[in-house]
Amino acid sequence: MKICVLVKQVPDSDSLIKIADDNLTIIEDGITSTTNECDTYALEEALLLKEKHGGEVVVCSMGKDSAVQVVKDGLAKGADRGIMITDEKFENFDALATSKVFASVLKDENFDLIFTGLQSDDTGNAQVGVILAELLNTSHSSLVIGTEMVGDTVIKVKRELEGGWAQWTELDLPASLTIQSGLNKPRYASLRGIMMMKKKPLQTMSASDIDLDDIATKAETKQIYVPQKTKETEFISGSPDEIVEQLMEKLTNEIKVLG
Ligand SMILES: Cc1cc2nc3c(=O)[nH]c(=O)nc-3n(C[C@H](O)[C@H](O)[C@H](O)COP(=O)(O)OP(=O)(O)OC[C@H]3O[C@@H](n4cnc5c(N)ncnc54)[C@H](O)[C@@H]3O)c2cc1C
Repeated sequence: MKICVLVKQVPDSDSLIKIADDNLTIIEDGITSTTNECDTYALEEALLLKEKHGGEVVVCSMGKDSAVQVVKDGLAKGADRGIMITDEKFENFDALATSKVFASVLKDENFDLIFTGLQSDDTGNAQVGVILAELLNTSHSSLVIGTEMVGDTVIKVKRELEGGWAQWTELDLPASLTIQSGLNKPRYASLRGIMMMKKKPLQTMSASDIDLDDIATKAETKQIYVPQKTKETEFISGSPDEIVEQLMEKLTNEIKVLG
């Protein structure tokens, strides 16, 4: 079985994020970067499937040069091969344009499974895995919280639904799955894994290596800002019946938490 896992480099959630004066970017000085959280679960799931059924796990990332670290981390944990895509031309790509780059790089590899995280912790479009399925014409399931192979050509997946419900469904391979955090226990890289990583194949690609028509990115960031929080205290007075009546009115028509 051949599995590709997309791993994105994102700012560590413990970093203090400051917005730059242009209100379009963040100040990167002093920020530590890490692998997007659900991508680490996606990688673990791929490694577990490989350990059970054999095959190859390939980690692939797109981003600045520094993002190669998340590919190396994946190799140190046990992936067999890495692909790093980096080019300034792709820098402000939205989820659709990003997916087109990945589709172009991955299409001839004929992966049985492509795992992405459910969404990235920074820009959080939750789109790339879904769009990739469409572009590569594969089956797709989102919000995956469990996987189980059925023979060589079908995968059974458990999907998270709303209100604590879940659903099992079967998909023909090839399939693109978006993986939710928490479905397994991501491993740490061992010292041996870190040493082995240095000998594993890591291919670096730029725009000139990729067969792409002119891709126009369609989403544009207008402004980034810290959500404004406002607080207001209002005293309701009157008899108990009047207070209840006013409260019901506010909860129903103003705050709209009662139907
Ligand atoms: C030079 C360069 C600089 C970039 N700088 C930034 C930046 O500063 N901030 C930023 O957010 N993006 C950056 N990108 C990447 C790109 O713009 C985003 O990846 C893209 O917009 C996807 O959006 P998303 O993360 O919201 O997707 P989502 O749909 O939320 O991502 C879902 C899943 O798809 C996979 N995925 C998505 N994007 C990538 C990726 N790039 N690499 C590997 N897996 C991925 C992951 O598994 C992720 O969990 C850069 C790209 C390049 C080439």
